[in-house]
Order: sequence, then C-alpha cells, then structure tokens
Amino acid sequence: MKIETITVCGGGNAAHAIIPIIRNNFSGKLNLFLPYGDEAAQFNKLIEEKRFITATIGEKKLYGRPDEASKFAKDVCKDADLILVPLPAFAHEPTLLQIAPFLKEEVIIGAIPARSGFEYSALKILKDNKKEKVIIFGMQTLPWACRIKEYASKVDILGKKRSVGMAAFPHKITSELASFLTRLLDLKIEPLPNMLTLSLANVGQIIHPGIMYGIFKGKEKVKYQKDEIPLFYQGVTKEISETLKMMSDEILVLINEIRNIDKSINLNHVLGLKDWLIYSYKESIEDKSTLQSCFVTNRAYQGLCAPMKKIGNDYFLPNFQARYLTEDVPYGLVVTKAIAQLAKVDMPIIDEVILTVSKWMGKEYIKGSYLEGKDIKDARIPQNYGINNLENIIVY
Ligand code: NAD
Repeated sequence: MKIETITVCGGGNAAHAIIPIIRNNFSGKLNLFLPYGDEAAQFNKLIEEKRFITATIGEKKLYGRPDEASKFAKDVCKDADLILVPLPAFAHEPTLLQIAPFLKEEVIIGAIPARSGFEYSALKILKDNKKEKVIIFGMQTLPWACRIKEYASKVDILGKKRSVGMAAFPHKITSELASFLTRLLDLKIEPLPNMLTLSLANVGQIIHPGIMYGIFKGKEKVKYQKDEIPLFYQGVTKEISETLKMMSDEILVLINEIRNIDKSINLNHVLGLKDWLIYSYKESIEDKSTLQSCFVTNRAYQGLCAPMKKIGNDYFLPNFQARYLTEDVPYGLVVTKAIAQLAKVDMPIIDEVILTVSKWMGKEYIKGSYLEGKDIKDARIPQNYGINNLENIIVY
C-alpha cells in the first residue's frame, strides 16, 4: 500500500486531534478539506504563520500542521491516496458528494467513526460518480475523546481507546489497511470481517437513545435546576437497564436470523450490551454483576450528565437535538430497524424507543412498526439506496 498524500475532511474536534497524531507518524503530504464556514481561512492562517495544532494528552504534547487547506475539494482531494472523514454522520454524505468527482481511481476513504449504513451511502455516491474502484472503510468508534480548546490551535485529547475495530470494502484490503492505520494513528486497529458488523455493533444506537428514553419518558417538560440535571450513564436504573437489555436482545435475534439466511457470514463481533461493556471497559467497571452495575460503577462514565439546554438564566430542559438522538437514531437505530424489516424480524422495544424519541426530535421515521414516516428519506437505511433485500446487504 503506497500512501503519499492524506486528506482529512472537516475541522471539528476529531480533525483537530488527528492532525498532530498523523503528523507524528507520517512524513508524506497532509491536506485538509474544509468546506464548512470559515474553517479553511482559519487553517490557512495557521499554515501561513507556520504555527501548529497542539494536542495535549495528559502530560504529553503533540504538534502538527497540515501542508494545505482548502474550501474546494479539487485543490486537496485529487492527489490523495487516503481520505479520512472524522465527521459527524450527518456530514458524511455532503462531504462525499463534494469530493467524489475529484477522487483518484483507487483512493481509500474512511469514516471515523462510521456509525451505521455508511457503506450504502458511500458506494451509491461513488457509483454515481463512476468511481467504483474506490475502497471504503469505517471505524467502529472515534478512538479519542477530544475537545477543541482554541480553534485551529489547541485540542485536548481526554482519553484514548485501547483498540478500535475497522471494516473495509472490498474486504481483501482490511488487514493491510489495519496495519497501516495502527501505525498512522498510534493505536491498535482490529480488522473486522464485514461492514454489516459496524452497523449492528454500533452500541451507541442502543445506549444513547435507550438511556434518553429511560430518563426522560414522561418527564419531557420537567424543568431542572443546575444541580438536578440527571447523570446519564450513572443514572441508569434497573428499569432503564431492562429496556437496554431488551433492545440489545432484539439485535441479537436479528443476528441469528441473518445467520440462518447465510451461514457463512461472520457477525461474531456483534456482542450483547453487557458483554460489550465488560470487553471495552474491563478495568474501569467495579461491579460487573449486572448490566445496571456495569453502567453505574464504570469510572469512564463518572459524572457525565444527560444533554440539557439552558432556558434563560433559570433552568434546564432535556436537549432532544443532541447527537445522542440526531446521530444515533437516523444513523443508528433506524438503520438496524430497516435491516430487521428486510429480515422480517420484529423489534417491538426498539420501535417504541424510535417512536418516542423521534417525536421529541420533531421527526417521524416509523409509523406503527413500519419505516414509513415522512422523515425516513433522511435516514441512512439501505432501502434509501435501492437495497431492498438482505442478500444485497450481506454482500458488503
Ligand atoms: P464536531 O461537532 O466537532 O464536528 C464538527 C465539524 O463538522 C465542523 O467543524 C465541520 O468541519 C463539520 N461540519 C459541520 N456541519 C457540516 C455540514 N453541514 N457539512 C459538512 N461538514 C460539516 O464533531 P466531533 O466531536 O469531531 O465528532 C466527530 C464524530 O466522532 C461524531 O460522529 C461524534 O459523535 C464522534 N465522537 C466524538 C467524540 C469526541 O470526543 N469528540 C467522542 C466519541 C465519538
């Protein structure tokens, strides 16, 4: 694999973290595609003034700056061998639509993280642009918790995952690409057998909408004082943990049904929620006995609050436009529901969660238990990309 030029798309928290990390492990050209707002101007100022992005990770500091930044895809994408898209899922499609006409034939493009259904949208856009040789990949999560401290200048990397799963299409490049990304990102990237695993093992789709549902159902309009804002993960009650378990079990039933249809498919990396928590947070969970205790005794979740919006100076209301819903429902739970619909698997609890939280979001994805709501066209479900049977999903 010959990677001489890398282009990073976007200028959010993740892009700020990735620049110094890549710069420390890669001596080729590093460019930025920044179509949004005045982000390109701010990064061009950094380049002109020969300043760096400083990433702080505990005691350690990393420095790096891109070689070029542009608002226009043709300036920074046409030479790229690898394009990284560390963006919220709603920005994947607008970004891919802008870069697709300028891509090299066999460039590799990866979403970090992929969330669910990335491959359906990406492969359709590439096909429409006659770029069918382009290789795509997705990572299961963003490897870092990170926040910009000062735009185009400083970023805090607050935590780093032990390892992150990655799946590619076509599959044959996966292990070579995983080795390259392991060196590039300085963290273990584990090859996954297929992109369907990314969609179904996206646990954010269970945890975030499921806990929002559990905390706020029936309390949508309750006004909270600052010191009354509920803890999010550590606010998981026995009842909420039962809802989360039922959501997770419905996905496991879907997995079994897919295996019945194609015995050769490997979905072994899609774990039940409790097993996933123990696998991912082995050292930080004090009491692993129940699903509820895995949340409330997990040090990694300590003190994290439910997303709220401040109303005037007085009180807070739940923020139903937070990523926990706007990303994890149309780019998560609804995608899984759509795959279940093709597999003829019922998901009554997931339906109830989608119905309830999408009303809060001002969206309608399902009617009854069918994906026939007026906003379903905006969700990243396979049916929106002309994929209407399970066999075609399994191909990826
Ligand atoms: P972010 O909110 O910082 O990203 C914002 C960036 O997205 C903007 O700076 C802009 O470059 C781009 N953007 C915004 N609107 C756009 C539009 N309409 N079209 C094109 N581009 C647009 O996001 P982030 O914190 O970097 O997170 C990236 C992804 O990683 C998300 O999926 C997030 O859920 C996930 N994630 C982030 C963290 C974290 O700690 N930051 C942790 C876990 C997962």
